Amino acid sequence: MKQLYLRNIAVIAHVDHGKTTLTDQMLYQSGMFRTEDLDKLAGGQHNLIMDTGDLERERGITITSKNCSVRYDGSDGNEYKINLIDTPGHADFGGEVERVLKMADGCLLVVDSFEGPMPQTRFVLEKALSHGLKPVVVINKIDKPNARPDDVINEVFDLLSDLEAPDDCLDFPVVFASAKDGWATTNGDRLGEDHPRDVRELFETIIHEVRPPAVSAMEGIEDEPLQMMVTTIIYSEYVGRIAVGRVEAGTIKSGTPVTVVKRVDSEHKNQRVLQVQQFEGLTRTDVENAIAGDICAVTGLDGIDIGDTIACAENPLALDAVMIDEPTLTMT
Ligand code: GDP
Repeated sequence: MKQLYLRNIAVIAHVDHGKTTLTDQMLYQSGMFRTEDLDKLAGGQHNLIMDTGDLERERGITITSKNCSVRYDGSDGNEYKINLIDTPGHADFGGEVERVLKMADGCLLVVDSFEGPMPQTRFVLEKALSHGLKPVVVINKIDKPNARPDDVINEVFDLLSDLEAPDDCLDFPVVFASAKDGWATTNGDRLGEDHPRDVRELFETIIHEVRPPAVSAMEGIEDEPLQMMVTTIIYSEYVGRIAVGRVEAGTIKSGTPVTVVKRVDSEHKNQRVLQVQQFEGLTRTDVENAIAGDICAVTGLDGIDIGDTIACAENPLALDAVMIDEPTLTMT
């Protein structure tokens, strides 16, 4: 039987190195949304989906941190769902970088093939390493005439050494890409050739190099007591607060009672989940449940906040929160 496997990867880069364009190509080529949506979202122009808030605005939703997911049919015959976790590159975001990295099992480090690593590359890579995330390095903008991919690979190596990355990280996989032209290859000898629009080699590298989330989830112990860490709050004028995060243990089911363990006052609140939603491309769709290892959105929990744990009603256990010092809700 065909299996569906999960990968959770944080996409990190210095500003303008092509994180948005690359993510957009992955979404586009995985066919998770129709071309007309793309055109509508981008106003008929080129891409930059992750930066357009159009879809959210249309539904009266504002998001602070952006998640999306792609489906990929692996060459091994299995289907993969890859959750792409957009990670801010800037230094002062009061814990947001930490929180979103917590959802990932690996990181996609996008580096401009001319500029090489820049301050935000270093900042966010250091944080990713401290969370035990192994990088897949994308040397982007290979189409640029002044690209110098070999030097840039060496600079990434030097940066990792300087950050005292473990040996398996120093031996990082490299994918060369032109996000703008929509191609990626692992073969550095073929960079001067014409490339068809195809990022499958990037998907293959991700599914082979990023560890699967919780091994337990694959082995059917999703009956463990539920624990889900809330990493982001989306505000919707229709359903109020939507809690986004990663299920760390057990299964979260639509319409079932849970206990919300508050980060701040450690008071337990018994509530009922309205809907569990999964990310499909850029949108969210209602599902019956989400299992350990997956990232999902949950509606129906009044007053839920970043850092809270959504736990099993019978056996509520909190997860360690990443401390933050910023407003937890954005409304426009
Ligand atoms: P982000 O800030 O990392 O999200 O970067 P963007 O994806 O917004 O890209 C920044 C700029 O670089 C935009 O003008 C893109 O069109 C351009 N860009 C992105 N990828 C490529 C690429 O592969 N080649 C070239 N030449 N330009 C690119």
